[in-house]
Amino acid sequence: MVEEASRQSPLSDYIVNVPDYPKTGIIFKDITPLLADAKALKRSIVGLAERLNSQGIDRVAGIEARGFILGAAVAAEIEVGFIPLRKPGKSPREVHSIRYQLEYGFDELQVHKDLIEGDMKIAIIDDVLATGGTAVAAIDLIEKAGALVKGFGCLLELEFLNGRKAIASKYPGVPVEALVKQ
Ligand code: AMP
Repeated sequence: MVEEASRQSPLSDYIVNVPDYPKTGIIFKDITPLLADAKALKRSIVGLAERLNSQGIDRVAGIEARGFILGAAVAAEIEVGFIPLRKPGKSPREVHSIRYQLEYGFDELQVHKDLIEGDMKIAIIDDVLATGGTAVAAIDLIEKAGALVKGFGCLLELEFLNGRKAIASKYPGVPVEALVKQ
């Protein structure tokens, strides 16, 4: 078993750095090679599910767009439902909405109101945790809808951007789980 484990490449091997994308100075973390590898994908889903499931959750919410891919698979693995947290203009029915500040300008996340009930315990999934602005907005949105966020899980945490601290300073009770830290 140990021998088997030692033969596995670390998940970080499947995340490709793309310098200066989408703009100069940003190193974009491309997770598509990880998604395209059956074993790396399965390990990521099972890894996130194991870490979050211990927190007793009713739903997994994923942040558009890459959080949908991982989040829906984690939800299926845990055997709970999936809730998409969407960019504006994509949800045709009544929504809860949260506007949040980016480095330049604002963005917004929305969720269909009737997907969330007051006593639900929800885990949030995204691909990359950077400054934490998106993660905090997602937690704000779920809490605004009246539910409880039981954890935030991601494939990759960019530690130098201090997203974990941003989450902890507003939501100290929300555990943050990252499969890869760089
Ligand atoms: P932040 O709000 O700064 O934590 O940024 C997190 C969101 O932006 C996530 O939804 C990521 O998909 C995306 N993101 C931020 N930085 C990167 C990066 N270097 N590579 C890929 N995606 C990123």
